Amino acid sequence: MSAAVQIHDLSFVPFIDQAQIQTRIEALAKEIDTQFTGKDPLFLAVLNGAFLFAADLLRELKCQPEISFVKVSSYQGTQSTGRVDELIGLQTGLKDRHVIVLEDILDTGVTMNKIFTLLESEQPASISICTLLLKPEAYKGKHQPEFVGFEIPDKFVVGYGLDYKEYGRELKSIYQLIN
Ligand code: 5GP
Ligand code: MG
Repeated sequence: MSAAVQIHDLSFVPFIDQAQIQTRIEALAKEIDTQFTGKDPLFLAVLNGAFLFAADLLRELKCQPEISFVKVSSYQGTQSTGRVDELIGLQTGLKDRHVIVLEDILDTGVTMNKIFTLLESEQPASISICTLLLKPEAYKGKHQPEFVGFEIPDKFVVGYGLDYKEYGRELKSIYQLIN
């Protein structure tokens, strides 16, 4: 496997290689197909990090997936109560749909809590979470992911869509911070 990579000021070592990722994605796709074939599932991939995972997973699915790409944005509302979360990019109505959220990584779970709350307000039939990576030691989210690619230690990773200050997304494998 390839050597360490340098991104900005940090060094990363190979952690999960391309073949391992693809093998795991094929297995995840089978699990999802078993559960959602015939249910007209709608996949919502969370940008930017999940774009490669979504592309590879989607091509393994046999359940006739519909996919849309969303982004979580937080802006200063008119109230003094602080920031307001918003899901941008949603074009399909979610009412009575089986929604599967595709994420690159679940860390503390704060982002997924926000996404879940925003999606629930659209009254889908169900919401499931599919994440390539999960940091179980850090995750405090209200909802457990149904589909997990890899459980990893609480260390920073890059590659395969994940960035360090916007670089490193193109790496074919996942790399872990050296420390
Ligand atoms: P959470 O809200 O679960 O703490 O974090 C979610 C977001 O933080 C992820 O979608 C991702 O953008 C970023 N993140 C968390 N851990 C990592 C990591 O190890 N590497 C990278 N590149 N991003 C991370
Ligand atoms: Mg993300």
